[in-house]
Amino acid sequence: MRWSETYIPTLREEPTEAEIISHKLLVRAGYIRKLAAGVYNYLPMMQRVLLKITRIVREEMDRAGAQEILMPVLHPAELWLATKRWEILGKELMKMKDRHLRDLVLGGTHEEVVTNLVRGELRSYRQLPLNLYQIQTKFRDEIRPRFGLMRSREFIMKDAYTFDADENGLKTSYQKMVDAYFRIFERCGLETKKVESDTGAMGGKAAHEFMVMVETDGGENVIFACDNCDYAANIEKAISIEPSEQESKEAEKPLQKVSTPNMKTVEEVTRFLNVPARKLVKTLLYKADGEVVAALIRGDRQINETKLKNSLEVIELEMADAVTVQRITEAQVGYAGPVGLKGVKLIGDKEVLNMTNFVTGANEDGFHLTDVNIDRDFKLDAVADIRSAAPGELCPKCEKGRLKTAQGIEVGNTFMLGTKYSEALNATFVDEHGQERFFIMGSYGVGITRTAQAAVEKFHDEAGIIWPVPIAPYLAEIVPVNIQDEKQREAALEIYHKMLDRNLEVLLDDRNERAGVKFNDADLIGIPLRITIGEKSLKEGKVEVKVRGSQATVSLRKDEVLEGFLKILSEIESTGKESTKT
Ligand code: ATP
Ligand code: MG
Repeated sequence: MRWSETYIPTLREEPTEAEIISHKLLVRAGYIRKLAAGVYNYLPMMQRVLLKITRIVREEMDRAGAQEILMPVLHPAELWLATKRWEILGKELMKMKDRHLRDLVLGGTHEEVVTNLVRGELRSYRQLPLNLYQIQTKFRDEIRPRFGLMRSREFIMKDAYTFDADENGLKTSYQKMVDAYFRIFERCGLETKKVESDTGAMGGKAAHEFMVMVETDGGENVIFACDNCDYAANIEKAISIEPSEQESKEAEKPLQKVSTPNMKTVEEVTRFLNVPARKLVKTLLYKADGEVVAALIRGDRQINETKLKNSLEVIELEMADAVTVQRITEAQVGYAGPVGLKGVKLIGDKEVLNMTNFVTGANEDGFHLTDVNIDRDFKLDAVADIRSAAPGELCPKCEKGRLKTAQGIEVGNTFMLGTKYSEALNATFVDEHGQERFFIMGSYGVGITRTAQAAVEKFHDEAGIIWPVPIAPYLAEIVPVNIQDEKQREAALEIYHKMLDRNLEVLLDDRNERAGVKFNDADLIGIPLRITIGEKSLKEGKVEVKVRGSQATVSLRKDEVLEGFLKILSEIESTGKESTKT
């Protein structure tokens, strides 16, 4: 392709709309353009990247025995009402009405539709297992669309669904998909980490996420991994062994009310009272499906809202607003405590059970209580693990290693759904004993557009993108330093045509631009190899090949450029592969 004939609108300035580096680069390098919040155009170069990822995904799905289909984007509301996800997904579900005022959904995932598809027709255990997948545009009205293609409202996803006769079948189907996922991302040039995750609104028993680990701010997910064994989980799910469990309890002291004027935060109160934060219990008020609950957690801990939501078994959970806090505690925000708190459910973190003589708010402006004790001073309605694990804590799996945190981008995930959807939609088959049974299902997603951007977040430098070879829009970019120079133009065209004849994907920068502009653009758009044709080297019958990633340059004879180019390409591809294995 000639640059003059394609559409690569590169920008000199940083786009103001973008926060993270990969988003900035994709806009600056002319890959994407925003239409509305979380809605993007994919320009010619982006489309090439997406097609390459799609192709890898398709090959690996087919290899794993999955069958490609294409389901509708437009869904009748009834299916979503039947599984209750109409309410559970709430505003994230893109809803609309047709001309008859019937409710419709723009699909963000297809468990309902695929279950409905096979219901009544996939009837015998002999037809199982079955794995159906599609690659399609998905719609989700995300609360905070951001970071370009990372969290958008319209995006491309590969979604697959498995149907099995029993739990063992599901395990096998699941493992096949896990293996396929590792292969997909590795083939895209991306090393991934598989971590345990919360099943969330999807439901089901177990779930894993595939994370591209990054050192930039582009990772939306915090991952905990053991430094000794293979335990890894995202922050919503991670657990740890609490050192406090081993601590011996103090004798209970008498409860006291102390003046803490204007002291509201854990830091202010503990400094004022001269106690460590671990001797205070925070009382956090939430609205859980409309009811107020108080969550108690040690002062130096972070509440984990996913765990809290799961243990309360509610759909919606949000922090109570100041007015509600004042109504319930009869005090300003900052003075809530469990003693004497009426009309709310009290749920305590497991760790709080081991605490004695702790500090809490007094439900009175300017006062706290000290030497508070559970059971003597208040009762808990429920106890659960509702805190986030903290770095440095003991691994729950090997009980030896320490948990470390890292940032990741979730590019895919897998869910063992079980019978949640087949039961809700009454989808059954007949087993070998003639018995009606619900399908045991699994569901598996890969974010195609997110994966593309994750590669940019992972591989770039100050000058621009560095595409991994397998998903780069072109393999080579030919840059004649001066296109108006007859000799340079001829040499460029000669190499260009030779490469086209060999079906090599090549971009020829035939613009009448200054060399500096073309070199900057070449670095920005990130094609793996650049072939530079300049006056001086051409006089010696040579051209220069530059590796975008390492910046290494090799001078090659013009008539040997093709062979040399292929050799360098396979070298960088295999070193790329090596680095994804570590
Ligand atoms: P997240 O926790 O990031 O919201 P999810 O659990 O909602 O993800 P799934 O429903 O399992 O994700 O979707 C499968 C894949 O689709 C994800 O792993 C991710 O790669 C991609 N994906 C999900 N939501 C978005 C989005 N808003 N924009 C782009 N890609 C997305
Ligand atoms: Mg989501």
